[in-house]
Amino acid sequence: MPMLPRPTVFIETYGCQMNVSDSELMLGKLAAAGYDAVDAPDGADVILLNTCAIRDHAEQRVIGRLGELKRHMKPDSVMGVTGCMAQRLGPRLLESAKHVSLVIGPDGYRSLPSLLDGARQGQRVSATTFDLEEHYEDFTPRRFDKVKAWIPVQRGCDYKCTYCIVPTTRGSERSRKLSDVVRETAQVVSEGMTEVVLLGQTVNSYFDGTHDFADLLRAVGTVPGIRRLRYTSPHPNDFSDRVIAAMAETPTVCEHVHLPMQSGSTRTLKRMRRRYTREGFMECVARLRAAIPSIVLTTDIIVGFPGETDEDFEETLSACREIGFMDAFTFKFSAREGTPATRMPESETVSDAVSGERLQRLVDTVRARTRDMNLGLLGTRHEILIEKPARRGDLLQGRTRDFRTILVGGDTSLIGTYMTVEITGTTGHTFTGAPVAARAALPMAG
Ligand code: SF4
Repeated sequence: MPMLPRPTVFIETYGCQMNVSDSELMLGKLAAAGYDAVDAPDGADVILLNTCAIRDHAEQRVIGRLGELKRHMKPDSVMGVTGCMAQRLGPRLLESAKHVSLVIGPDGYRSLPSLLDGARQGQRVSATTFDLEEHYEDFTPRRFDKVKAWIPVQRGCDYKCTYCIVPTTRGSERSRKLSDVVRETAQVVSEGMTEVVLLGQTVNSYFDGTHDFADLLRAVGTVPGIRRLRYTSPHPNDFSDRVIAAMAETPTVCEHVHLPMQSGSTRTLKRMRRRYTREGFMECVARLRAAIPSIVLTTDIIVGFPGETDEDFEETLSACREIGFMDAFTFKFSAREGTPATRMPESETVSDAVSGERLQRLVDTVRARTRDMNLGLLGTRHEILIEKPARRGDLLQGRTRDFRTILVGGDTSLIGTYMTVEITGTTGHTFTGAPVAARAALPMAG
């Protein structure tokens, strides 16, 4: 009896690192169920889109892509939609896209193989039940990256900011056991990786019933073989003195924090229900810098939130000038169905033109500050971890501990290794660097 070929699965991931990590978990689960992952949709037995619902634009992209992918399907291929958009829309997606057979929310991946078996016999299913115990501990993620590992430590979020769909699509917050996170960290070290990134919606509110985020940083940061420990995304309110002390006292914790500010106006922050004020955010920044003077900050900012006045926006600009973020992810407010912000009075809507103008001024302000800071780094030396080939040219992309991107010459055999470089140039955003011979025992910057 000739052996049937193993079924193939193609997965396309949208959105945040948590989704990348979920795709790795799904591929691991399917590999254990006999599937082979392929890098293109053509002729794949299963095509999965792991989706994001954070902004309307993200969902429109998926709807367009679902249409495009139809022509890559074989007659018996199965198309599935997973992730936050699947959780938000559920059966509505089956109605609107007849070639989609599976709609699975972020807590439903344990039954993926059996649901796929049903779909391959013609069933069409939507599975969006939350499971607050689920952390997929027994899954073996099939990692896309061979240099650093995404390690989820928490799922869901309890903050409920008025513009955010995440609590709706990922449920309430729950944390993995510290011992499971440490076990996974040791596993990735045994696979040759030296950098891990701990993932959570508000990762520094981590609590497994016994251990908090400070305990987690100290435990993961001292796993033999780990050289760099990062985490994303924290919430400003959860930087306790214990957490900041653990960051400062654990040498592997990198000197970079992505600290979402969202707005520099206390009035707007209140309406966003961010649960801190401008002063509270500034105080958090000051405490981080007092404990780790070389720390580098990046952030997320929304402009055009309902009711945002010119004065509110000026406060966002002034906060950026005062803090000096190395970089900022900046967005126009996007109303998400089902979030409290959509129930704010129509009269408070900020027009797309005004939002667009504010977005441009914000980008210019952050870029100008970043450029000034980066020009000041010419000639300084940094240890970089070579991550991958650069997008342009035949250079390699390396990352400093404080999250700066430095492009260097060299062949791909250097990927995954560390190198000391001297910064030779900057575009204002990324840098070029030249390797420094080991003999040069000059002081390192940052
Ligand atoms: S903290 Fe706020 S913005 Fe972040 S995931 Fe939770 S609800 Fe969304």
